[in-house]
Amino acid sequence: RQTETNQGATALLLDNIKTPIRTESFQELYNVIPGKELGRGKFAIVKRCMEKSTGTEYAAKFLRKRRKGQDCRVDVLHEIAVLELTNPSHRIINLHQVYETLTEMVLVLEYAAGREIFNQCVAEGDEAFTQEEVKWLMRQILEGVAFLHRNNIVHLDLKPQNILLTSACPLGDIKIVDFGLSRRLCQNQELREIMGTPEYVAPEILNYEPISTATDMWSIGVLAYMMLTRTSPFLGEDKQETFLNISQINIDYTEDELQALSASAIHFIQSLLIKEPKSRASAEECLRHHWLQEQAQEKTEENLTSEICQRAHTKPAPPSYPPSPSSL
Ligand code: ADP
Ligand code: MG
Repeated sequence: RQTETNQGATALLLDNIKTPIRTESFQELYNVIPGKELGRGKFAIVKRCMEKSTGTEYAAKFLRKRRKGQDCRVDVLHEIAVLELTNPSHRIINLHQVYETLTEMVLVLEYAAGREIFNQCVAEGDEAFTQEEVKWLMRQILEGVAFLHRNNIVHLDLKPQNILLTSACPLGDIKIVDFGLSRRLCQNQELREIMGTPEYVAPEILNYEPISTATDMWSIGVLAYMMLTRTSPFLGEDKQETFLNISQINIDYTEDELQALSASAIHFIQSLLIKEPKSRASAEECLRHHWLQEQAQEKTEENLTSEICQRAHTKPAPPSYPPSPSSL
C-alpha cells in the first residue's frame, strides 16, 4: 500500500492519544439516521448519526481494522492523533469521540452539513461556484493547509471529495477531512510513494521522489483549476494517460473558462502546477498571492451575499460571509 524509507522511524503520528477509546456500544448512545450514507471509501463508511443524550448530529466514520489481511489499527490511531493535533484549527474537522469494537473503530466527527465541494465542482450553471466564491473557499482551504504544514503534517489526499462545507447555501465554511493518507514529515527521514488519487497526485509521487509539503501544494493547484473550470486538468481516458499528463505537465490554460478569469487567477494556478516541488508556492505564499488579496471591485460583500442567496432562493445569513478587507 505504501513504502516508507528508513525503517524504524515512523511517519505516523502516534503520540499519546488523549481521546478515550470507548468500548461501550456506539449503537446504544447514537441513533444512525436512516437513508443514504454520507460517504464510502475503500475501508470506511461514513454515516450521519445523532447523539441520543444531546440530540446533536455527527458524522460517524466506521473504519475496518483489518484490511487486506493486515491489522491496520495503528493507521486509525494515527488518524485520531492527527485530528487531535489539528483540533485548534477551525478549518479541519473536529473529532468528538472514538469507539472501538472487535472489527471496527468509529470516529465520531463534527457533521459538515454542506457536504463535499465536489458537488459544485461538477455542477453546471447556477450551482457552480463563482470566482469570488472560489477565492473565499480557497483562502480557507489554504488556512487549513498552512496549519497542517506548520505542524509538519502533509495531507496527501487533498481533493474536492475531502473538502466539505458546513453549509451549502448560504455558502458556509470549509472543513478538511480524511487524514487516512496523511503523514508526519520527519527531519532525517525521507517519505516516498504514498499514493493518493490519480488525478490529484504530484509528479514526485509518480517518480518515487521525496514527498514534502509542496506535494500538497500541487493538489491545491489542481483543486483551484477544478473549482474555477469544473474540469480536471490532468484527467485522461485511463490512469496511464492521467499519469502521463501529470508527468509532462500537460495542461491547457486556453480553456474558455480559464480565459474568462482574471490573469491573477491563472498565475495562482501556474505558481503551483510546477514540476520542481521547491519552486511551488507555499500555503503561506498563496495566502498572500494577489489573486486572493484583490477584492471584487464592483461587488460589495452585501450584494455578493444576496446574489448567492438569490440563486438558491433563500434569505441571506450575513454572519458566516467573509468580511471585506475594508471592514477588518
Ligand atoms: P475515505 O478515507 O473513505 O475517503 P473520508 O473521511 O474521506 O473517508 O469520508 C468519505 C466521505 O464521507 C467524504 O468524502 C464525505 O463525503 C463524507 N464525510 C466524511 N466526513 C464527513 C463529515 N464530518 N460530515 C459530512 N460528511 C462527511
Ligand atoms: Mg476521502
